[in-house]
Amino acid sequence: MPDIALWNKCNNKCVMCTNMESFARQDSSQYRLKCQIEKLERYLKGQGQVYLKNSGLAGFISLTGGEPTIHPDFFQLVAYFRRRMPGIPITLLSNGRLFADRKFAGKFARLARPPFSVAIAVHGPSAGVHDPVAGVRGSFSQTVRGLENLFSMAGGVRVEIRLVLHKKNLAAFPKTLEFLLKKFPDTGSYTVTAIHYEIEGMSLENHSSVGLKFSVSSKVVGAALPLIKKFSDFRLYHFPLCQLRPELRPLARITLPPEDRIYPAACRGCRLRRKCLGLMLEYYKAFGDSELKPVKK
Ligand code: SF4
Repeated sequence: MPDIALWNKCNNKCVMCTNMESFARQDSSQYRLKCQIEKLERYLKGQGQVYLKNSGLAGFISLTGGEPTIHPDFFQLVAYFRRRMPGIPITLLSNGRLFADRKFAGKFARLARPPFSVAIAVHGPSAGVHDPVAGVRGSFSQTVRGLENLFSMAGGVRVEIRLVLHKKNLAAFPKTLEFLLKKFPDTGSYTVTAIHYEIEGMSLENHSSVGLKFSVSSKVVGAALPLIKKFSDFRLYHFPLCQLRPELRPLARITLPPEDRIYPAACRGCRLRRKCLGLMLEYYKAFGDSELKPVKK
């Protein structure tokens, strides 16, 4: 099932956001409650291509933005999506800041009945790293408080912490893991996902300051293996398997649709190919395939 853009505005200005600035400038009327309901009903009846991203992927939905939690009818939409798709896993992608308000987090936790998860991006181990990436001073403390509130709520919301890696925060990756282990030591209660950034939207605009090659990120991620092992559920998105040390390869997942990926000539004859996403298409356009090291039979 698709990625559904719930709202086009955001209260952060992340340097590696995959949306263009023009997305937030669009008229928001097409994202209002009534339109969202009409779109989902058309989708459920199979009336044409309603959603653009990942519409061919079955079995789950992602609610994205902008920042979904600042939608004026956020709670009505959470309740509506849950009611219309019982049993379908829903993931809400958020910067987590509004969950710093305990009442807000509590209301969300009551409506987001399982299977429901919220994926919150943490950009570093401190405000000094996180806030310049998010583009908002004070965002780190709100995001962390939001996570604390969600963890403290009884209920079925599963929390995923997303670490999107790029040039501005890669060096802080081990410290970010140490921070999470100290702040949220019950690692069985959440998932951590490290994601090599995508080259799209603002991350393309800001490429000179965020651009990062796999040969660089995979070294830092590989050196953090002892820390990674301390988490119960750790995942890696967007990494070609040949860039990862063998112990980390089982943690890699393919989450991008085939049209966003490529197996360049270097992948020919690689025995890892069946379980590997290859390269992100935009990455291939920007950096080529010279880093790939096919693993031969
Ligand atoms: S060579 Fe290609 S198929 Fe093999 S691990 Fe690397 S990216 Fe994946």
